[in-house]
Amino acid sequence: MSHTLFISDLHLCHTRPAINSLFERFLRDIAPQAEALYILGDFFEYWAGDDDLVEPFHTAIAQQLSALAQSGTRLYLMHGNRDFLIGEAFQHAAHITLLPDPTLIDLYGQPTLLMHGDTLCSDDVEYQKFRLMVRSPQYQQAVLAKPLAERKAMIEALRKKSEEEKSYKTEAIMDVNAEAVADALRKYGYPRLIHGHTHRPAMHVHSVDGKSCERWVLTDWYNAGGYLRCDASDCVAHTLELVGS
Ligand code: MN
Repeated sequence: MSHTLFISDLHLCHTRPAINSLFERFLRDIAPQAEALYILGDFFEYWAGDDDLVEPFHTAIAQQLSALAQSGTRLYLMHGNRDFLIGEAFQHAAHITLLPDPTLIDLYGQPTLLMHGDTLCSDDVEYQKFRLMVRSPQYQQAVLAKPLAERKAMIEALRKKSEEEKSYKTEAIMDVNAEAVADALRKYGYPRLIHGHTHRPAMHVHSVDGKSCERWVLTDWYNAGGYLRCDASDCVAHTLELVGS
């Protein structure tokens, strides 16, 4: 049966070989049967700019995606909060299409809203301010004008800072805000919602203005991997165990 797959928050990085081979296995054994694969952000642990495609690890990932696209699976990518500098060159190398966040698609007749999910975490006011800054074209132009090594050092410092902040931000602040979810569902005509980012895989049902909407939260790929498979009848979440675990 024709179906579509959704993944997010793989945080691919050359220092996490077990997850990288799990992703390779997913690309080889599971993804080719799907008509489309959507990657909803934080595909890479970080992305310093498309000039970093020269790194062999990045070249290999782009080639694997490109091979999947050429075998007939359509590929879509949404930026996450860690890889929002992915641009034209990566799209071209990986045969993947960048999607704006949010994007509303027709999924086998059911309107489905796709997001990374960070914009729904509106209680984290500090992060939302930061997001506004780093997503502005002026900021990105200024950053991309710096040498690659300098950009990588900058990102490393930001990651450290964010790890420290996570230790005192409460669990509630880092989850989605119910009103932000309701607003998004209302704005897009009460669709099904699929997003990642929070690393809290689940299916929630939201009742908004008397309408009932499913919200699927995708799993991260830290201790295991996983994907959401949707066809004309429903969506089902699947887990991918690491080999040897
Ligand atoms: Mn994220």
